[in-house]
Amino acid sequence: MDRINVDHMLAIEEPFMKAPLEQLKRAVRQSQKLAEREVSQVGAALDTMASGAPDALGAEEMDRALSGLIDRLKTLKRKLEEAQHEEAQLIQRSKQRATDLSELDGFESAAQPEFQRWCRARLDRVLVDYMLRSGSVETAQRLAANSQLEHFADTSLFALVMATERELREQHSCRGALQWCAENRSALHRVQSPLEFELRLQEFIEMARGGNTLGAIAYAKRHLTPWSDTQLPRIERAMMLLAFSATTQCPPYKAMFDEARWVQLAGDFRSVIFRLFNLPSQPLLHLLLQTGLSALKTPACISGDVAERNRDCPVCQTETLGRLAQDLPLSHHVHSNLVCRITGERMHEDNPPMRLPNGYVYSLDALAAMAAKLGGKVKCPRTAQVFGLAEAKKLFIS
Ligand SMILES: [Zn+2]
Repeated sequence: MDRINVDHMLAIEEPFMKAPLEQLKRAVRQSQKLAEREVSQVGAALDTMASGAPDALGAEEMDRALSGLIDRLKTLKRKLEEAQHEEAQLIQRSKQRATDLSELDGFESAAQPEFQRWCRARLDRVLVDYMLRSGSVETAQRLAANSQLEHFADTSLFALVMATERELREQHSCRGALQWCAENRSALHRVQSPLEFELRLQEFIEMARGGNTLGAIAYAKRHLTPWSDTQLPRIERAMMLLAFSATTQCPPYKAMFDEARWVQLAGDFRSVIFRLFNLPSQPLLHLLLQTGLSALKTPACISGDVAERNRDCPVCQTETLGRLAQDLPLSHHVHSNLVCRITGERMHEDNPPMRLPNGYVYSLDALAAMAAKLGGKVKCPRTAQVFGLAEAKKLFIS
């Protein structure tokens, strides 16, 4: 019972390890691209200067051009130093996470105090992850700082997601999301994400909404037509949109003008960025809770008859934890336990199930306690019928 299944524990920790590695990969690729582009452009400029006629550029102009190139290289150096700092942090973060997970191998039993401490730290980081995802960034940062778990929190990534989502949902602006798409174009292309097209389409729709038809046509030529290989029918429909006003009731165009598209875009942005960074769409807290709930779910929990529910069962609390259990399968019970609806306690030989004349069953302890208060009478909590305790019949389970 006390044995720790390290493989099972590691299986759910995959995103925890992968997130900083994915960020590192992306950061390295971006600085590599930046260096290649700048160096080749500076090299090409030098070649042009060297191959020109000796007096094509005056000494002063030559001096100015060279100073410009030197400044450009200095800026590149500064940017690469910043990138190097960020990469070093990500490497450090990956190491710290690997060290944390490798501790699991050293534990011999779940009862060990060191393992309990490890689990408490994990609970804190799972809560930090949950709060970051729900937008409570400051609270998450405070908990991470108090528990010394900053290296376990992907704060900057979630802060970017939240800020961009807010910009889309509340300010109705695609600026930040489009900038992110430009920085990650090749990765988006690899996963065949149409996010950038959807954002461009939204900017087009806003121009159409504002009556800027000429501007919208020019925008479509520049930003929508490059997508014609995969999005031609939608581009055609977008052009038709220009013939309608924002108050149209014509279904496809009404849906395009609908402001709910902004909420959809915010959701699309989140799912794409999570996908690129290998983050699960659900918080780890939900996965861990669902593991426990799946062991408790019985047919009674999902019965339409509310009276069938058990007040001590978290799955039966359909407004809270039960929601997480909605899509889980029923648990497989080899042995059944009978639980008294009144006390929530298990019924067995010493506390046997008693059947009232109306057919409902409760534990002897519950009925005896009730009879002691009601002068030998018991009241069925489901039907409010009153019987004498002596009328209850003991049941035998074979
Ligand atoms: Zn239940």
